Amino acid sequence: MREITILSGKGGTGKTSITAALAAYAQNTVFCDNDVDAADLHLILQPDIVETNTFFGGWKATIDTAKCTKCGLCMHHCRFEAIHFDSFKRMVINPLQCEGCRLCEKICPVQAIASKRNDNNFWYVSNSRFGTLVHAKMAPGEENSGKLVSQVRKRAKEIAKEQNMDYVLNDGPPGIGCAAISSVSGTNLVLMVTEPSKSGIHDVKRLAALVQSFKIPAYALINKFDINVEMATEIENYLEGIGIRVLAKIPFCKEVVEAMVVHQSIPEYNPGSSIAGQVKAVWHELVNGIK
Ligand code: SF4
Ligand code: SF4
Repeated sequence: MREITILSGKGGTGKTSITAALAAYAQNTVFCDNDVDAADLHLILQPDIVETNTFFGGWKATIDTAKCTKCGLCMHHCRFEAIHFDSFKRMVINPLQCEGCRLCEKICPVQAIASKRNDNNFWYVSNSRFGTLVHAKMAPGEENSGKLVSQVRKRAKEIAKEQNMDYVLNDGPPGIGCAAISSVSGTNLVLMVTEPSKSGIHDVKRLAALVQSFKIPAYALINKFDINVEMATEIENYLEGIGIRVLAKIPFCKEVVEAMVVHQSIPEYNPGSSIAGQVKAVWHELVNGIK
């Protein structure tokens, strides 16, 4: 079983619509949405959830105001300035600022502070028309997305082994942060989806550096290349110069958007389109490249 991960250095490159299009051609594959902060592959795949699991995130402290003597010790020691008086002169903790270090819990002289792990994050195993999908939903403000990415990838690989599948196809998170690092680590092949814009060039360079630092073979795809052909050529030259082959340059096409509106991938919406043909060829290149 081999893992292929689709990444983009930034949001808005069309990575998920490319992943969904690849999914339409992928045989013997388990799908995994690694973009746990803003998962959207399920919007196209429309899966039926068969398993729901809680992911326990970071710790959050709260103050029992009935016990609190307002001594102020916790407020002075919180390095994240999460503790303050509210308008009723009660000592409270802002959950969005609390980093869960649990220092305040230890130093409160009257044990008025307790910490609890956030249990508002979920990950799912679902059935879709293309195969099994493992995906997740992370609570707003939660900061353990890297761990949740590792969790969904682990389960996707287990399922692939159980079902004797050949591939796991990961729809990775945008950017190069903690979640992207979790998505790259240990994968067998990366496809970078980029677009010809100033930020597109900047972000694909950072992504390429990240992927190459892990020594993972990578290919690229330039989406909407015709919105700036000159810049697309600049990206292609840069990537080819550092040993990353551009497998396809996909033109802007409003059918891609129309397909998404009706929850379809482009090969389903218009199987005879040139874009569908290009994506099919990319899938074959990926499969050949991973052998
Ligand atoms: S240390 Fe305890 S008693 Fe003192 S202000 Fe904080 S919560 Fe209240
Ligand atoms: S757990 Fe740490 S970050 Fe959160 S309020 Fe207490 S001291 Fe501040």
